Amino acid sequence: MTARKAHQALHRDLERVLVSQQAITRRIRLLGKEISQTYGDREITVVAIINGAILFTADLLRQIASPIRLDCIRVSSYLHETSSLGPPRILDTMRIDLENRDVLLIDDILDTGKTLSAVVEVIRKLKPASLRTCVLLDKKGRREVEFEADFVGFRIPDRFVVGYGLDFAERYRNLPCIGILKPDLQNPPEWA
Ligand code: 5GP
Ligand code: MG
Repeated sequence: MTARKAHQALHRDLERVLVSQQAITRRIRLLGKEISQTYGDREITVVAIINGAILFTADLLRQIASPIRLDCIRVSSYLHETSSLGPPRILDTMRIDLENRDVLLIDDILDTGKTLSAVVEVIRKLKPASLRTCVLLDKKGRREVEFEADFVGFRIPDRFVVGYGLDFAERYRNLPCIGILKPDLQNPPEWA
């Protein structure tokens, strides 16, 4: 099966496309410029939250002109649910030093704010020179903890989305666009 056919099959599971592949590409180019202007020649220590931020990080870093060091952190995920249960846990932490570094924390989506605020708390303890956050998507209406990201790709409505790194039960991450998953494919159904 070709990639095109595979994507068409995944597309059929979407109620609608929210952010097209072209829109993602265009926005990431601008975000890269904005970030490059913010840091200039200073080295950025990027910490990406996996798995969700993998695709976004890979594309964004190639649009940043500043020197970069990269590491990842793994935080407990939704697994087979579309809403998180309990506080996020750090499952696998960074290996590189962050002390006195300019840290840029990247995630796929800012939703309740719990994940980013928990990771920010962990990173602050490591005494970085600066700490900024960047998310591809922001569901502002869903915030439970006060949190604003420094760099935001798109503000989106309060719907469960998949694609471009975002998953449902580890699937759909390879969709090149971002879309709303059909309600009957979601679990639990109250997210419909
Ligand atoms: P928060 O802790 O802000 O509620 O949620 C952040 C995490 O929840 C993200 O890293 C992402 O993994 C997950 N998440 C939140 N909303 C969505 C969504 O609409 N779709 C998917 N696939 N994941 C989401
Ligand atoms: Mg995530």
